[in-house]
Amino acid sequence: METTYFKHPLRFPKNVDGPFYTTGHQSRETDAPDSSMVWRGDCLWCGAPEAEAPTLFAPFDDTYKDTYFVRQPSTPEETEQAIMSAHVCCVSAVRYGGTDCEIISKLGNDPQVCDYIITDSGEMQCTVGSDGNLLPFAQSIVDARQPEIECQWKGQHKKWWQFWI
Ligand code: SF4
Repeated sequence: METTYFKHPLRFPKNVDGPFYTTGHQSRETDAPDSSMVWRGDCLWCGAPEAEAPTLFAPFDDTYKDTYFVRQPSTPEETEQAIMSAHVCCVSAVRYGGTDCEIISKLGNDPQVCDYIITDSGEMQCTVGSDGNLLPFAQSIVDARQPEIECQWKGQHKKWWQFWI
């Protein structure tokens, strides 16, 4: 497994070293202004990624339900499982920070889950900025791929997230 990979600024700290990881964010423990900041995983509770790769993720217990990698895949089968776990995470919090072209391809060469993608000219390009957000070129790729859905009742074209607006 790769030893060099992108260190995403929002990588959940409990992830084991390696290219597959989950994201998280810091928030206050309580509403008190002087409360300490703690990391919380962006993906938690439902268990869908864990079901795809049960030996790679931390098992849930009664106190801790964040999703994070405790092992990196070490066989082709486990790599497929890790890829599937990224596909099923509905908030794209299971990501790949490596540069293996085959894995990137199986992840759809998608900036939403890949820290590196392969450009049309065949170059490897990082998709994430120092603040953890997608770089403008990567965001434009994501935007272009958003499915347009016919909004029949208004006769308009809307993207999926615009139905709530
Ligand atoms: S896969 Fe989606 S619903 Fe399930 S825990 Fe992760 S973010 Fe939540």
